[in-house]
Amino acid sequence: MPVTVEHLRRVYGSFAAVDDLSFEVAAGEIVGLIGPNGAGKTTTLRSLAGILRPTSGRIRIDGHDLAADPLEAKRRLAFMPDEPRLFEYLTVEEHLRLVARLYSVPDFEGRARGLIEELELKGKEQSLPDELSRGMRQKVVIACGLVRNATTLLFDEPLTGLDPIGIRRMRETIIARARGGAAVLLSSHLLHLVEEICSRVIIMAGGKKVADGTFAELASRADLAAAGSNLEQIFMRVTGHD
Ligand code: ATP
Repeated sequence: MPVTVEHLRRVYGSFAAVDDLSFEVAAGEIVGLIGPNGAGKTTTLRSLAGILRPTSGRIRIDGHDLAADPLEAKRRLAFMPDEPRLFEYLTVEEHLRLVARLYSVPDFEGRARGLIEELELKGKEQSLPDELSRGMRQKVVIACGLVRNATTLLFDEPLTGLDPIGIRRMRETIIARARGGAAVLLSSHLLHLVEEICSRVIIMAGGKKVADGTFAELASRADLAAAGSNLEQIFMRVTGHD
């Protein structure tokens, strides 16, 4: 299983931002991680990426324990954060080249060219981050994640900040990666898009998982039957806002 999370807990001081969270993501699956502000989505994704150390619980990427075998686990995953942080003095192309070198990506030129086309960064190859719009910087962060051959893709809010064409392109990009066998976990507040591209959703609230399933499974859950079958209605019901 590409992603296995067992009883993940992460506290900040005495506050549990994520509590007893367990789930799996299979190859080819696109799982939407949704929940109100402060639900613990970013904390979960950062823990999976190996940036935050869990307080307790176990994370495995392709069977490799993230705590015991971090190099093997991290080699297989790419995390694309929502805050586009880039190197001030590196151009778009240099960013891609750096990542490709760090991860020994074969055929860098071809992959980089393909990604620049796919993410509509053409003409910006020699630009510095300062010379790019926010949406473009976000695309560069995503291109850096995709230039590697990671089997697990973790996206924090990949669609926010993109224009309508960018959203459509990013949607296609994510679906194509899953069709190619990647396991995808993405957080988003854009529920209609989650509904379109995800095969399953995990709903978090107050650090805990409050729902996990396909849309059909959630809609048929006894306590959600009256909520209606669209994700927004289900979201409101499970988070106590209906
Ligand atoms: P959003 O939808 O707003 O991005 P989220 O679901 O991603 O929210 P997190 O960023 O994971 O939520 O935050 C979960 C909780 O943990 C929040 O209550 C937040 O205030 C708290 N938190 C996050 N980072 C820290 C930190 N460094 N120190 C203390 N508390 C933190």
